[in-house]
Amino acid sequence: MPGGPTSQPFSWSLLFSNSRVASLGTRLEQFDISEVDGIIDVPLDLIMRSEIVWREYLIGFFLERRFSFPYVKFVLQQKWKMRGSFEMSADQDLFYFKFSSKEDRKAVLDEGPVFMGGRCLVIGPWTQNVELQMKSLNTIPIWVKMHGVPKVMWIDEGLGFIASKVGKPHCQDRPTKERRQLDYARVCVEYKVNETLPDSFDIWLSPNDVRRISYEYPWIPKRCECCHIFGHTIEKCSRIAHQNQGQRAAIMNRADGNERNKNRRTVMGLERGNNTVIYDGNGPGEDMTRRI
Ligand SMILES: [Zn+2]
Repeated sequence: MPGGPTSQPFSWSLLFSNSRVASLGTRLEQFDISEVDGIIDVPLDLIMRSEIVWREYLIGFFLERRFSFPYVKFVLQQKWKMRGSFEMSADQDLFYFKFSSKEDRKAVLDEGPVFMGGRCLVIGPWTQNVELQMKSLNTIPIWVKMHGVPKVMWIDEGLGFIASKVGKPHCQDRPTKERRQLDYARVCVEYKVNETLPDSFDIWLSPNDVRRISYEYPWIPKRCECCHIFGHTIEKCSRIAHQNQGQRAAIMNRADGNERNKNRRTVMGLERGNNTVIYDGNGPGEDMTRRI
């Protein structure tokens, strides 16, 4: 019974006793609510106070289907080397992280996306309209395997130069950095989602030395044609279920048309690399140390 053993009969008012609420820090205030045309205006200073609280948080979301909370927490505890600690919580779309140290928060934000089990956890600061943030994601991190890299280019600058053909270089895996496995270089780049990914291109090293670099993309996340969020296709979109019949048909037709155009471009070899494959465990030449 709330309040512990007592000789008095239980009363619900005990739940609202001032000392109990104060000690828990759970007190709430009552506001005067003003309504205009049936809509309640939220005071600006309330929103500003809220932003001070939430600005401390970073958010994370998977571009594809998410992993379970305990697994994500376990991986992040291994990957994020930090001075302090972090608290993690989640709702159905996002993970939320709060750090005991400002330096840790900054380091995690600078470090950016975290790859685990072949999927990508995008990390960013919390904003008031997180959904808009997810929709307006124009660049995403992807891993690229670069084949045929001449050894003279196998230094940080050279790999960054070659990766720049795909997007903005982000990092390289350890075997690439340490030149332990030289069959291909694996780098992570920020790729602009609407741009075509190159299959290959030639680099000119000297008059008699032109080399061909080819690119392989182990994993490119799908994006929904309806809500523009990564992680599901239009067939599985919860948003489309709320549209009326006519809107739904129009969206599906548009998506169908896009798919047909995409197929046509793919046949012509213009859309993404012909060597594009969906990540499916470790491929040839990979081992567990190179798994993304
Ligand atoms: Zn959707």
